[in-house]
Amino acid sequence: MGHSEPSLMYVLYILILLIVSFNLCTNGQKLPTENEKEEIVVDDLLPKEVVVIGAGIAGLAAARRLSADKQNFTVKVYEARRDRYGGRIWTDKLTNMKARGAEVDLGGSALSVISKENPLIELAEKFDLKVASVQKLQFIIPWKKISYSGDDLSKITHQAAQILGQAVNESKTEKIEVSMKEAIDKVLGKRETEDLDSAAAHLVRCLPSYILDNYSSRNYKPENIDVGYDKLLLDGMGELIDRLVSGSTEEPPLHLNLNKAARQIKVDKGRRKVLVRFHGGVQVAADIVVVAVPVSVIASGELLFEPDLPKKYQLALHEISISAGNKVIVEFEHAFWSAEYGVFTRAVRTDAERGNLQTWVNVNNLIGHPVLIGLLFGQPAVEFEILNPEEAKNYVIDVLNEMFGEDLVKQGGKVVRFQHSKWVTDPLSLGASTYPKVGSDPGLWDTFSQPLCPYIYFAGEHTSFEAHGTLHGAYNSGIRVGDQILTGLCETLRKEEERRIEEARRKKEEQKNATKDDKLDDSLDDDVNIDEDEDDTVEEVAQSKKEKTEL
Ligand SMILES: Cc1cc2nc3c(=O)[nH]c(=O)nc-3n(C[C@H](O)[C@H](O)[C@H](O)COP(=O)(O)OP(=O)(O)OC[C@H]3O[C@@H](n4cnc5c(N)ncnc54)[C@H](O)[C@@H]3O)c2cc1C
Repeated sequence: MGHSEPSLMYVLYILILLIVSFNLCTNGQKLPTENEKEEIVVDDLLPKEVVVIGAGIAGLAAARRLSADKQNFTVKVYEARRDRYGGRIWTDKLTNMKARGAEVDLGGSALSVISKENPLIELAEKFDLKVASVQKLQFIIPWKKISYSGDDLSKITHQAAQILGQAVNESKTEKIEVSMKEAIDKVLGKRETEDLDSAAAHLVRCLPSYILDNYSSRNYKPENIDVGYDKLLLDGMGELIDRLVSGSTEEPPLHLNLNKAARQIKVDKGRRKVLVRFHGGVQVAADIVVVAVPVSVIASGELLFEPDLPKKYQLALHEISISAGNKVIVEFEHAFWSAEYGVFTRAVRTDAERGNLQTWVNVNNLIGHPVLIGLLFGQPAVEFEILNPEEAKNYVIDVLNEMFGEDLVKQGGKVVRFQHSKWVTDPLSLGASTYPKVGSDPGLWDTFSQPLCPYIYFAGEHTSFEAHGTLHGAYNSGIRVGDQILTGLCETLRKEEERRIEEARRKKEEQKNATKDDKLDDSLDDDVNIDEDEDDTVEEVAQSKKEKTEL
């Protein structure tokens, strides 16, 4: 037989065969090319790239947790600030190189001992950092020239706790949710007769939850009454943050980039990547992004998401409130205040003064330098930021004069150092810490503890109601995110979802079959009725019906 050209029909036949067999093999999907195949295999073997945005304690804790698994994850942290990391932890040694940390802590520094297991106390011990208790409070009512401490103060504190408890309980019976201020004022309206009662009332009015007019009474825990017995790190919270970043002999330093303000987080499903765009045009691609910036910064629109955050997250963004808070640090030539107390708190006479430098920490007792650190909350914290340095200093001296008496303050000599924070107008914090305002649901905080699988996770003090607004709450959130990623939470959730869908599909199928059977029975009945006259048995009709459906 001679060699001949294949006919057109033959070519078509081969083509159809090829298409059919191709589809059978691939189940209708395009097979990867050799290169793509290699890329997928290599991709799965490579460690996942995690980008953490924000080098506050939450972001750093997440990065530290993840970098323990070097085989499976590479972690890079990007921080917007040019000259420091730590966020709302700021041990400002740059302004005063000789200072010991605790005297230049302008942000969060007190490790709460209300929650018995504060992980940061444990961590400080692990890093060999000295922790000291801020012992003994003196409560001053300046216009009465009275002060309380020791047993008297214990009685007052006990009464204050009762007032709080009563206020919270009574407010729960109200139909309309009220603020802590309203709840407390209602109780106080019925009391304030004896002196001690009145002192307790003043003490209650010093609490931040009272000062923040809108703090929800339903979400306040009276057992959290804080009379200043917190712990401080003598070398400052910045030292603990430094250790998190620098690691140890077993743990290499974190890969940290300063001066990188994230502008947009974009999910690229096609590439199975998430892209982070920074101000200035730089862009990085990662497998996972941990967003550890303050909720107020996200809510301000400074950080954009593509696609937009789901509705639930957007609601949380706008419903979670952030308080105003600031610190003032004053160093004198000599300590004029009593060495007997670790904290001084003053009562105030008017609503406008609430939160206005009511509490001062005696740093001299801790590190032997004549330094006082004052706290501002609420509206006074906002207004303090707009004073010029001279005005601010005079303002502070006036408060101290009223509190301790002018003659005593004069004994301190000159003010040799004066510093204060501006957390409210700082565009990278826009406030101090989150709190539940009247009407907000604690569940909003927990929204952010759920990742947007598989690409975006959230860390920060605002991502869990349990210890919101605290240092240890922020730290725990970072550890939680680290664990969520390490244990493959998104993969588990995906499998659960698949199982749920499969289960629903199976149930639907069963229902469909059951309906079919019912219809079959109904039509059998019909057939029985119809065939009654023909004397067929039910079994015979059923058999003929079965034969019909099988066909
Ligand atoms: C004055 C003050 C006193 C406080 N006192 C106490 C206290 O005594 N005890 C206590 O438990 N808590 C206290 N707190 C609260 C505590 O400091 C915070 O809850 C905690 O530090 C929050 O940590 P975080 O990691 O969630 O957020 P942050 O520390 O705010 O970290 C977020 C980081 O993200 C960065 N960032 C923002 N935007 C971007 C962007 N677009 N791109 C990249 N990076 C970005 C920020 O610069 C920052 O470094 C206080 C807070 C303040 C302000």
